[in-house]
Amino acid sequence: MAWFLGTSALAPRFTPTEADLALKAEEQREYVKDLWIFLASVVAFLTIVRALRLVLSLVIRPRSVASLLSEKSGAEVIQAGRNGKVSLRRLPAAFASAFRIVAFRLSLPIGPGSVASVAELTFIFGYIAVMLVILLINTGDLDSWFYEDRAAHLASCQLPLVVALAGKNNIISWLTGVSHEKLNILHRAAARTCLMLLWLHAIARASNGLPEQFDFTHGWMRWGATGLTAFTLAAILSLRPIRNAFFEFFLISHIVLIGIFLIAGFLHTRHPGFGDYVWPALVVWAFDRVFRAARLAWNNRFGISKSERHRTATVELITPDTVRLTLRRCFKWQPGQHAYVILPTVSALPTEAHPFTIASIPDSLDTKGESKDRDVVFLIRAREGFTGRLRDLAANSGVCTVPAIVDGPYGCPPDLTQFTTSILIAGGSGVSYTLPLLLNLVRQTRLGKSAVQRVVFVWSVREADHVRWISQILSEALAVAQSTGLTVDPRVYITGSTPPTPPLPALGYSESDRGSVNMESPISEKDVKMALPAYSALRILHGRPSIRKVLQEEIGVSTGPVSVDVAGPSALSQSVAQALASEITSPMSVLRGAPSVSLHVETFGMTR
Ligand SMILES: Cc1cc2nc3c(=O)[nH]c(=O)nc-3n(C[C@H](O)[C@H](O)[C@H](O)COP(=O)(O)OP(=O)(O)OC[C@H]3O[C@@H](n4cnc5c(N)ncnc54)[C@H](O)[C@@H]3O)c2cc1C
Repeated sequence: MAWFLGTSALAPRFTPTEADLALKAEEQREYVKDLWIFLASVVAFLTIVRALRLVLSLVIRPRSVASLLSEKSGAEVIQAGRNGKVSLRRLPAAFASAFRIVAFRLSLPIGPGSVASVAELTFIFGYIAVMLVILLINTGDLDSWFYEDRAAHLASCQLPLVVALAGKNNIISWLTGVSHEKLNILHRAAARTCLMLLWLHAIARASNGLPEQFDFTHGWMRWGATGLTAFTLAAILSLRPIRNAFFEFFLISHIVLIGIFLIAGFLHTRHPGFGDYVWPALVVWAFDRVFRAARLAWNNRFGISKSERHRTATVELITPDTVRLTLRRCFKWQPGQHAYVILPTVSALPTEAHPFTIASIPDSLDTKGESKDRDVVFLIRAREGFTGRLRDLAANSGVCTVPAIVDGPYGCPPDLTQFTTSILIAGGSGVSYTLPLLLNLVRQTRLGKSAVQRVVFVWSVREADHVRWISQILSEALAVAQSTGLTVDPRVYITGSTPPTPPLPALGYSESDRGSVNMESPISEKDVKMALPAYSALRILHGRPSIRKVLQEEIGVSTGPVSVDVAGPSALSQSVAQALASEITSPMSVLRGAPSVSLHVETFGMTR
């Protein structure tokens, strides 16, 4: 660290005059203001971009499938509208495609098993660069006397932002439309930068020799040391390997240590008159908690409903490692959002809440009528902790009910109704993200509110019997889609050793197919067939899907913008991102008439 403190850190300290002290105080105020102007500008820019996109999508609404169909003569084929010649009128679209490829689809490794997109890295390094510039500008010959306190001012004044970026209910997410999980990446980068600045402050102060009024006989100095120790410990315990291996421990230790840091930080900064930097962070944190508690109480009808079903969830084992959890709640969400589930009798700790994507949609597929009580369905893949205990409960007790609390909804899923083609790609339990998107498209088409003409639903599963997870609802959706102008191309890829099920004639579906698995009788091929949807276009294929081929074919024939949505193992998401960074969507292809392609990746976990 000594190199960073400049030569003056080791040299005898110069004695500042009154004018120097006044200048330093003035500069500190100015730089704090500059930093906040910069941060507010970034948030304002993202908010304006979002607002413009919203306005544009309202003004230039693509025509619905129903209106297109009513104009078309029966067998007319929609022309692709591209002749292979370069059109300069498509230059803006080509630039947009180049930007998407570079910013969001190219990624770089940032640690074992984890990658970050160029956009994320640009934000992180841009932020660090701005912080360093504001820290070191006008410090003479990098004299630590000028920046030792400025570092503390810059770090402390950002604490409300750092806390806001971590919250599930945060105003930045509402304004910018960036989901709280993505903001969490910035939370970590900002928090680590603040920690670095606070250490710089502490080391520079200590190495310059603490005068009597700053030594550790004073309580406010001891509070400073306590806060910094707690913050440092919290940062160490939040490193990815620890966070992934001991998530609950990380969460609780983080809340406790950051609580200590903020209170100690307030007591430290209050002494020189800067407590106003820190207490707003506590307010931001309290707002998130109070909002969350209020919504939790409302969603679960605490004190309002005496109905048993508003307090419980039904647990069913649908395949040996997958549980379907169904809650009946007065609860509204957007297809593709997730919620946190608390099952007090299954959890190891009362605070244990796990995120799962809501696999159902809030409204029924084919009617306008809306009921206030809705089935909130989760498809939960059993792992070792909470989900493993839930699987064991379902295996031992059969279909049963447990006390349940749901917190949410969270997440900012895309609006797919503006696109011409929607390609939904899921691996395993990732289908709980793509299924509601499909259901919603079917519903919106039926209501005449969607421009989507074709949906390709790609789902790869290890075993054929996993189709049971969604067979009933998929069957219903495909039947409803047949009565609209929407073409749905569902393909299930079975990647395990089970031989592929032969192409199926249209099969009936009976209610008895739904329900839990009898673990004593293995699922036969006949059972699997019966669980499959009544839809002749369903393709059951063996082996992994060739993502590149699927994308190339579908983008190649789409007559308008394409949306690609993917959820599942990170290898699957990465292969989709790589394919969409290739010549399929290259600026040259776009200049020649290829459609614009938007990619949305849903990550199931804190893997990045
Ligand atoms: C937005 C989102 C949506 C998700 N949707 C689904 C879904 O629809 N279906 C599904 O099966 N899974 C989903 N997951 C993953 C699911 O949350 C985890 O598998 C589950 O929390 C693991 O709990 P466990 O105690 O059994 O994990 P463990 O067996 O203890 O650990 C398995 C992994 O899960 C991580 N993990 C543990 N607890 C949490 C937590 N509270 N939050 C985030 N990660 C955690 C661990 O770090 C570890 O990497 C989703 C995750 C996120 C972030």
